Amino acid sequence: MSILFIPFDHLHRDYGVLKNAKKSEDVVVLVESASMIAGADWHPERLFFLISSARHFAAELKAEGFEVRYIKAKNTVAGIKEAQKEFAGQSVISAEPSSFRMTQSLADHGVQFVDNDFFLTPRELFASWASSQKSYLMENFYRKQRVRLNVLMEGDAPIGGAWNYDKDNRLPPPKNYTWPGYLEHDRDEIDAGVAAELKMAPTKTWATTRAGALAQMKYFITHHFEKFGPYEDAMALDSWALHHSLLSPYINNGLLHPSEVIDAACKSFYKGAVPIESAEAFVRQIIGWREYINGMYWYLGEDYRNHNQLGADRDLLPAFIDSANTSMNCVSSIVSDIKERSWVHHIPRLMVLSNLALITGTNPQEFLDWMRREFIDAADWVMVPNIIGMGVHADGGQMMSKPYAAGGAYISRMSNYCKGCIYDPKLRVGDKACPFTTLYWDFLDRHRETFVKNHRMAQQVHGLKRLSDLEQLKDRAQQVLLGLEKGEI
Ligand SMILES: Cc1cc2nc3c(=O)[nH]c(=O)nc-3n(C[C@H](O)[C@H](O)[C@H](O)COP(=O)(O)OP(=O)(O)OC[C@H]3O[C@@H](n4cnc5c(N)ncnc54)[C@H](O)[C@@H]3O)c2cc1C
Ligand code: SF4
Repeated sequence: MSILFIPFDHLHRDYGVLKNAKKSEDVVVLVESASMIAGADWHPERLFFLISSARHFAAELKAEGFEVRYIKAKNTVAGIKEAQKEFAGQSVISAEPSSFRMTQSLADHGVQFVDNDFFLTPRELFASWASSQKSYLMENFYRKQRVRLNVLMEGDAPIGGAWNYDKDNRLPPPKNYTWPGYLEHDRDEIDAGVAAELKMAPTKTWATTRAGALAQMKYFITHHFEKFGPYEDAMALDSWALHHSLLSPYINNGLLHPSEVIDAACKSFYKGAVPIESAEAFVRQIIGWREYINGMYWYLGEDYRNHNQLGADRDLLPAFIDSANTSMNCVSSIVSDIKERSWVHHIPRLMVLSNLALITGTNPQEFLDWMRREFIDAADWVMVPNIIGMGVHADGGQMMSKPYAAGGAYISRMSNYCKGCIYDPKLRVGDKACPFTTLYWDFLDRHRETFVKNHRMAQQVHGLKRLSDLEQLKDRAQQVLLGLEKGEI
């Protein structure tokens, strides 16, 4: 007999420590940690989703015939100790946790680990790829994954003849378009209990069961997958999710395994239901980006989260905290979407929120903590590289060779936010100047010496020479930064 410990992001019957579980012998333990719940001002949807999913999972295992203990304790180790008191002398086994911190605290307590198979790429395999690279280009990793996992391949060649269809997948939001609806998930007694304890009223956006997660996957494949690719980078005022899958919370907490999502996507492609540009774009996200980010988290090490190579020390801006604190239409609309559902897709995360943090010089760790608290799918392994490396370039280019800094022109091209905004994306000086446009140039100017040495940035830095109004722009940038600090821009 063993005590099988299930962290809240290992909720799958067929993976991790449950794969070889013996119903008649083992006891399954889940711990609801009070210090985790009280440890930060988490978005209520996020807490609700994580706790209710775990409670449903425990109930399902019980119904299947497992001996289950769902323990509420002051922290994870205290909960495990409680189980050890009841089942004295039994060893505790867990699949390797997905964060440095949890790994350390379980290892310190003597928990034995089995492989973490909630990802498609073993950590050692990723490390051997990364250590053989001059720069960690996701595209190179992704092509290897396509071959290794045999996804959308025809012999040695990619199906369709190209490895990626990025050029077909950068459309702005369509005009006069009816977006298909999104699946709603009904709430049950367990949900109601969790919501009452948390004193919140959940939306119907997020499922908290395996059945709900599978329904979400099916819904995406049937209603949204076909157009996923072309509009994956667009942002639209009339649609909060466009054609995105809304699957990240379930893949991250284990209700779905990435291989199940890939199988469903490929099946749909082979049936002829979706074009290659959507199939490839989606597969790239799962076997490419997701695996790459997890691989980088472990490869770059525990201290990576503390990087601040651009010396960014501004406090978190009020605009992030409440949509009423800004008149920037893009930011206000995105922050209000986050408040409602704890989610926005990758382009608002990268090109609006992270971009704003980057070009205002917001402290990377403050921004990281905010993103961790707010997003339904946040976890250490995924937020740290996405923010520190990709979002705010705090690692000095270790992960991405150039920062994702952009002015209002990018947001204007890829969204319909700017039409209703009091600012003008084309202007960089004056009261009506778009804060993104002003701060983009100011950012390049502030870091000109660093970026002029970067061949992928040099052209943008040289662009500063063409600005006849640079001094005026720098004054306006100071006004904008002050206004943002006061919540008046
Ligand atoms: C600054 C920033 C922060 C992010 N933070 C998170 C986070 O905390 N948790 C999280 O799961 N994703 C994060 N992402 C990735 C991405 O934004 C979300 O996975 C995606 O928006 C989730 O919605 P979806 O399931 O509809 O995704 P889709 O657009 O439908 O994509 C399909 C899947 O691809 C995977 N994926 C795509 N890109 C990434 C990526 N960069 N990292 C990891 N997985 C990826 C996700 O599993 C996602 O479900 C972040 C991206 C950026 C740029
Ligand atoms: S003008 Fe600037 S601030 Fe306004 S919506 Fe466009 S990008 Fe955002």
